[in-house]
Amino acid sequence: MRQAEQVTFGGSGLDRAAHLRDDPAALAALWEGGNCRILLIWRGKPLCALPSEVAVASDSAIVPEALAWIRPDHPMVTGAAAGAVFLGICTAGRARFSVDISDWQPDNLDDTALLGFVDSSEQRHPDLPQGTGFVELRRIMAQLSREDAELAATARAVFGWHHSHGYCACCGAKSDMAQAGWQRVCPSCDAAHFPRTDPVVIMLITHGDAVLVGRSPGWPEGMYSLLAGFVEPGETLEAAVRRETAEETGVEVGAVSYLSSQPWPFPMSLMFGCAGEALGREITIDPKEIEDAIWVSRQDMMTVFEGEHPDIRQPRKGAIAHFLLQNWLADTLD
Ligand SMILES: [Zn+2]
Repeated sequence: MRQAEQVTFGGSGLDRAAHLRDDPAALAALWEGGNCRILLIWRGKPLCALPSEVAVASDSAIVPEALAWIRPDHPMVTGAAAGAVFLGICTAGRARFSVDISDWQPDNLDDTALLGFVDSSEQRHPDLPQGTGFVELRRIMAQLSREDAELAATARAVFGWHHSHGYCACCGAKSDMAQAGWQRVCPSCDAAHFPRTDPVVIMLITHGDAVLVGRSPGWPEGMYSLLAGFVEPGETLEAAVRRETAEETGVEVGAVSYLSSQPWPFPMSLMFGCAGEALGREITIDPKEIEDAIWVSRQDMMTVFEGEHPDIRQPRKGAIAHFLLQNWLADTLD
């Protein structure tokens, strides 16, 4: 697919400068140099430049469009270099790090807002610049620059891994961050552990002029998306597409081809977008896996994407399902 890398989180050409990860002197020089910027992450949410207070007051629908970077001399990151993740050198030549401040407990925190399908809450830290706040990445991913999107996805995924993999998988001892955040090492048995990325297939299954979409319980009313599922050990992408489609809907799939991939740091997946040709249209859903599955004609899907369908809502903008359906409608999957 020629436009494969145009997907959100499709990569910006960031120089990750992996050779510097085990060079503490070079990293310290980058951190202390005047050309370093740091992205704060709080419970997976990056610090963003919010619209002005006035703009928010007049139109709460406005969402931020840029990450907010702070300098290493900001009091919030004093002494934080040892726990920082080195993200790389951006196109402007700046060193980019990320620091996690998940231990911060905001006043009057609404925990339930953080768990919603769309977390629209914003947490403003009193010591950070006015007009900045922590924002759920899925809410802003489609508006970020390619570079900010890659940096935010990387920081979120790596810190998510540190939070869920704090103990050695070999012996159970508490492990330590190493390699500027790109490894954990066990002080007890010396095992090294690396950030995980879990492969997921997401499939554009078509039959004639119709596409197969499904919905999970708990999604916003009327929202349908492409079927998806984790690739199992010992399985190819093609086999995973056929198995997941059959398990969830009973639809048999013939030819499968690769289209595009998307890093999906929620918490640490890599989505493999694939096309699959269904051998028939009969659907038998597995209610343990999905709530509903339907075939939608190209004409009806156009109406969905125009926001005018009476019953069906499009997938989340910025998600690869949205990207693949959009390209299917535009006939640009080749
Ligand atoms: Zn160990």
